[in-house]
Amino acid sequence: MKLEFDTKLVHGDLSFDEATGAISYPIYQSATFKHRGFKQSTGFDYSREDNPTRQKLENTIAVLEGAEAGFAFSTGMAAVANVLQLFSTGDHLIISNDLYGGSYRLFEELLHKQYRLEFTYVDTRSLEGIEAAIKENTKGIFIETPTNPMMRVSDIRKIAEISKSRGLLLIVDNTFLTPYFQKPLELGADIVLHSGTKFLGGHNDTLAGFVAVRAGEQLSERMKLIQKTVGGVLSPFDSWLLLRGIKTLGIRMERQQENAFKIAAWLKANNKIAEVYYPGLASHEGHGICKSQASGFGSMISFSVKDAEIIPQILEGVKVISFAESLGGVESLITYPLVQTHAAIPKAILDELGVNERLLRLSVGIEDVKDLIEDLDKAIGK
Ligand SMILES: *Cc1c(COP(=O)(O)O)cnc(C)c1O
Repeated sequence: MKLEFDTKLVHGDLSFDEATGAISYPIYQSATFKHRGFKQSTGFDYSREDNPTRQKLENTIAVLEGAEAGFAFSTGMAAVANVLQLFSTGDHLIISNDLYGGSYRLFEELLHKQYRLEFTYVDTRSLEGIEAAIKENTKGIFIETPTNPMMRVSDIRKIAEISKSRGLLLIVDNTFLTPYFQKPLELGADIVLHSGTKFLGGHNDTLAGFVAVRAGEQLSERMKLIQKTVGGVLSPFDSWLLLRGIKTLGIRMERQQENAFKIAAWLKANNKIAEVYYPGLASHEGHGICKSQASGFGSMISFSVKDAEIIPQILEGVKVISFAESLGGVESLITYPLVQTHAAIPKAILDELGVNERLLRLSVGIEDVKDLIEDLDKAIGK
């Protein structure tokens, strides 16, 4: 049955608990499952391999991303690490140079130093830059769009064309827009991943990660093997929390975006603010591409102040907005990327990107926007 996206958010694959008819999918808090008889498994043997609650969630993610299969992990980083297990020593990957700090740390500190995978960081807004970085041993391209924290936008369709023509795997970290606004697999990507901790969970209460893969080349079989072998799976209870969070993704994304538009415009008009990075602004350099490949711009705003001296006063002055890491939840958060989310990336790289001591990142929640603006106004000062 063909369903609209908001219906898919609430019902996933339309499956329900046949045993009880429960409207809220049950939490199957069981590590193992009894066999009905010799060679008579229920289809569930051990929860690292498959658990009914997690499976319901994984099917839901697959439906939302238009994927062949979905996989749920204990964190977003576990999702990234599991996807990278598709590659081998000596393989080379091209990576967006503006990227979540934890992903950078995984690539450099573990996968490069210990396992000799090679990574080249390029500005993936430039297709020529990507082409130029392709080497004989290049096997994949890994992008975020919009990027964390500079909100740079890369053209997924065009990068997918390059990737396909060279036989590479295109992986998109879709954490910032979620499938509600952007569906990378439909645009030609091979693999989508998420920190489910952020918008999909949506309540700043649970860590989770997702991978969704297109059909073909045994991608889903290989991911399943990696997932059950490595074992970083999402627990039944956290799977239930994610199912619950996803039901309201649409209304949250709409409200958060509506608030973000107002705050971005307000920041832009503030004389203490130097630069506002929000792809929803017509003046943002990636606005056109974002509009062509996504149905919305999300609710992440980065901005730089003119004078770094007011940073502590802003971070300590906000009362409704919390000075905290993370993003995507109903509660608005403000982050100082230089010392929080992006501390793992060398200063020289950050400087070049514009991640400096004047940059703040705002995750806009669902509060009344009047209170959020008043909060920022008081903290930024006159
Ligand atoms: C937070 C984040 C991650 C890592 O996810 P965790 O759930 O914190 O492990 C990866 N990518 C992006 C874009 C993120 O914002």
